[in-house]
Amino acid sequence: MAQRVVSFHYTLTNSQGEQLDSSAGHEPLSYLEGVGQIIPGLEKEIEKLQVKDKKKINVPAAEAYGLREEKYIVSVPRDKFPAGDIHVGDQFQPGEDPNAHPFTVTEITSSHVTLDANHPLAGVDLVFDVEVVNIREATAEEIKHGHTHDGHEHH
Ligand code: ZN
Repeated sequence: MAQRVVSFHYTLTNSQGEQLDSSAGHEPLSYLEGVGQIIPGLEKEIEKLQVKDKKKINVPAAEAYGLREEKYIVSVPRDKFPAGDIHVGDQFQPGEDPNAHPFTVTEITSSHVTLDANHPLAGVDLVFDVEVVNIREATAEEIKHGHTHDGHEHH
């Protein structure tokens, strides 16, 4: 089957019903099938839908942004950081890789700073309310690039 580009609107909530994100008022989100542009648990369900279909899709954390892992939580001596210049919630990009998960400061004591490199949504069970708005065949160029050319980014 030809690879497709699927566009959908979504509202994302956690399992307590708190809204985390939504495409309402924006362009729909588009993705090229089969390349991991969206989380696997969501793609697996959306690919069964037709244009105009609406569905509530539950995606357990393990099929979304993964489980929280202790190995991504590290404690660093306080004196490795500039004095007084660090706050809970600050983020640091480790190394040169712009795709690496940033570390978030989660705790500061007099001796240590705790950094967490888990994705902010790791360990969170997600609920997506989706509405498919368009499905089309991918262009040869999109398949070659491995992403859709809908939306803002192009490279
Ligand atoms: Zn491209």
